[in-house]
Amino acid sequence: MTTRRHFIWLLPASGAALLSACSESAPPPGAEAPAAAPASSAEYPVPAPAPAPEVAQTPATAGPMLEASDPTAVALGYVALAANADKSRFPNFVEGSACSNCTLYQGAIGSEAGPCPLFAGKQVAAAGWCSSWVKKKT
Ligand code: SF4
Repeated sequence: MTTRRHFIWLLPASGAALLSACSESAPPPGAEAPAAAPASSAEYPVPAPAPAPEVAQTPATAGPMLEASDPTAVALGYVALAANADKSRFPNFVEGSACSNCTLYQGAIGSEAGPCPLFAGKQVAAAGWCSSWVKKKT
């Protein structure tokens, strides 16, 4: 027969057993133990880095070739071949100057044509020229 005194005597012992059962070190009965942390990153598949994109000769957003009849092109004296520049109208023309060696030319080295910020959305000929030519720094 369990007396009140015997019950009070058993209470601390059963409380300690209950606390140890609920501690973090042991999962509750019926629960799965948490998965162990991976020992190394080899357990996680690391995707291979994406291949570097090929250097485009001409940006995809370059657009169509600039027409010499374009109003801005006419105003700046743009020609698709620098040798055809109107030297009387543009006495600042420098022999050997062309879009390809202009600081504003954005085409790749060796490209036939490329963008120029003066003619947004269009491409200028690498061999072209306009009166805004500025020697590219080397
Ligand atoms: Fe060519 Fe330079 Fe004139 Fe642009 S600014 S059209 S790259 S010469």
